[in-house]
Amino acid sequence: MSRTFSVSAKKSLSQNFLIDDAVLSAIVDQIHPQPDDHLIEIGPGTGALTAQLYARVKHLQLIELDDRLIAPLRQRFPDAQLHHQDVLTFDFESLINNNQPLRIVGNLPYQISTPLLFMLLESPALIQDLTFLLQKEVVDRIVAAPSSHDYGRLTVMLQAYFHTQKLLDIGPEAFHPPPKVDSALVRLIPRTDRPAAAVYPLLKLVTQAAFNQRRKTLRNSLKAWNDLPLFSACSIDGQLRAENLSVDDYLRIAGYLGEIA
Ligand code: SAM
Repeated sequence: MSRTFSVSAKKSLSQNFLIDDAVLSAIVDQIHPQPDDHLIEIGPGTGALTAQLYARVKHLQLIELDDRLIAPLRQRFPDAQLHHQDVLTFDFESLINNNQPLRIVGNLPYQISTPLLFMLLESPALIQDLTFLLQKEVVDRIVAAPSSHDYGRLTVMLQAYFHTQKLLDIGPEAFHPPPKVDSALVRLIPRTDRPAAAVYPLLKLVTQAAFNQRRKTLRNSLKAWNDLPLFSACSIDGQLRAENLSVDDYLRIAGYLGEIA
């Protein structure tokens, strides 16, 4: 399992390279790439996952920020389209061709995973699915059920737009250098019954207010809307706390605020 690398791992870019072939195969099995997929890998790094994807699909796009990795990636994967860019500024819409939605995968840089998920959340129509290796704690939050410890704003925002599924748990020994945290693979598929675009800012606002003061009752945390019959109109008990509401409850509140605006 030991490998030599031409570059040293940079902590500032969350570089933890996959080195376990069994784990790599399990991840590729879960992605299940098909030749005509429009596949995008975020952070190909030294190409461990890339090599397996490159062998399976006709159209592979890579987004990598580290200057040192660009020439070796170009040389090893000449038919892939390589974008030397910060993924947080990447325009995914520019990749859409013939209306084919994108399959986006990656062993993500953990320190930007939450902002990246919030960014992708704004464009569910561009996406066929997302399969990401993330910090286990973040995956547990993404797939959490109401009234559980991990249920929070990230859960509600993502589950409003995506079906979420935890696929695999992966230990630190699968990486070089080993991260200090456990990891997990998660899949997100856009919901066909997702809310209209106009609901998004309201859902953001309401979940922010509710979860910023998650110990308080909703009647307190959502007091900005106290002049409205918010709780009765949405059939919600104002004595509950943020984590007790389901995703549908939040969607009802955001929908109601949209209707009366
Ligand atoms: N895919 C490789 C693997 O599994 O071995 C590397 C994964 S490593 C956890 C994360 C990768 O994302 C690194 O190659 C790193 O340089 C790249 N990266 C970090 N921040 C990035 C950013 N903002 N935009 C694009 N790539 C980034």
